[in-house]
Amino acid sequence: MTDMDKMNDMPSAGPRPRHLTRQVRIGRVRVGGGAPVVVQSMTNTDTADVLGTAMQVAELARAGSELVRITVNNDDAARAVPHIRDRLLALNMDVPLVGDFHYNGHTLLTKYPACAEALAKLRINPGNVGAGSKRDPQFAEIVEIACKYDKPVRIGVNWGSLDQSVLARIMDANARLAEPRDAGAVMREALVVSALESAAKAEEYGLQGDRIILSAKVSSVQDLIAVYRDLAQRCDYSLHLGLTEAGMGSKGIVASTAALAVLLQEGIGDTIRISLTPEPGGSRTQEVVVAQEILQTMGLRAFTPMVTACPGCGRTTSTYFQELASGIQDYVRAQMPVWREQYDGVENMTLAVMGCIVNGPGESKHANIGISLPGTGETPAAPVFVDGVKTVTLRGDNIGAEFKAIVDDYVATKYVKKAG
Ligand code: SF4
Repeated sequence: MTDMDKMNDMPSAGPRPRHLTRQVRIGRVRVGGGAPVVVQSMTNTDTADVLGTAMQVAELARAGSELVRITVNNDDAARAVPHIRDRLLALNMDVPLVGDFHYNGHTLLTKYPACAEALAKLRINPGNVGAGSKRDPQFAEIVEIACKYDKPVRIGVNWGSLDQSVLARIMDANARLAEPRDAGAVMREALVVSALESAAKAEEYGLQGDRIILSAKVSSVQDLIAVYRDLAQRCDYSLHLGLTEAGMGSKGIVASTAALAVLLQEGIGDTIRISLTPEPGGSRTQEVVVAQEILQTMGLRAFTPMVTACPGCGRTTSTYFQELASGIQDYVRAQMPVWREQYDGVENMTLAVMGCIVNGPGESKHANIGISLPGTGETPAAPVFVDGVKTVTLRGDNIGAEFKAIVDDYVATKYVKKAG
């Protein structure tokens, strides 16, 4: 085998094409069928608090959440939904709202048609839709309401609330095998079967396949990968990905990224949510930022200019370059709502903030705009590179502000101004 043969034999570096799932329309958003992977999130306010919930939905939408789920758990919440939608429309925000229903969804949706009408999608959990003989009629009732109001439905299975009748059936079948599978494999099969059988039932009750999204969430990375690979092979419904109960801080981010990156790379997943537990006092929007950053760093979508920064080392003992890198990332993120309205393609801009001369000029040349700050003992000068060419050297106490001005100027001159 020649070197060229070996190169041709290597797997392609980029993500595989998206699985050919059925495209689902949710308000103005398209999920699946080759559409860009959609970012979604969920509020943690009491839905009955119309103002508080509308404000958090708006905050999540401004951060980039393209769908926002709200829990609809009781009469007050169901009554509040149309008012939340109206408040958002008054703010000129038409982010589609997804209603999350458990146990009493059939009752609430029947009792409050304005709630059903105001929602863009319903999410139901087959494990929580009703027990025993009540399960199928209550599931059918929700599906009929979805059909009546032309709402898509996410059938969201979760291993914390798996339909016990499905699990018992799969366990019985497994026990009869000559070589029974382990408990983990049985649980994964039950999750997939619960999702697929519920989708088949929903179609039987009149919901079209292109109005169904499936999810089967677990909290273990390897189980999530196995379950979604299986689901993707066994159906062509659009798939919502997320590691449930991912946890707090870096653990939640790392676990979600590890699981979702593998699946997204394989072309699996049409919409994602990162289920982070916010730090006390932390912003709910972090889960949106993480979801966007996963998609952007994988080259699947672009949302906001990315800042490359070196980790720093003994060659740069001050924290100045860290502060500058963080300040620039915050600055471009804050500017994006305005830039996005004004300029095409600005989200693809790349920036570099580097700590010393070792990799600084080289990395800066790879970015659209890069700055190489002086390391310890170097001449106190910071060369700036624009599209690979050194344009200016900044000095003194005002480097941060001057660099931001260069970024502003680049955006205004490089990106095409939108009409209107
Ligand atoms: S660019 Fe310089 S300061 Fe940054 S990690 Fe590399 S050697 Fe250290």
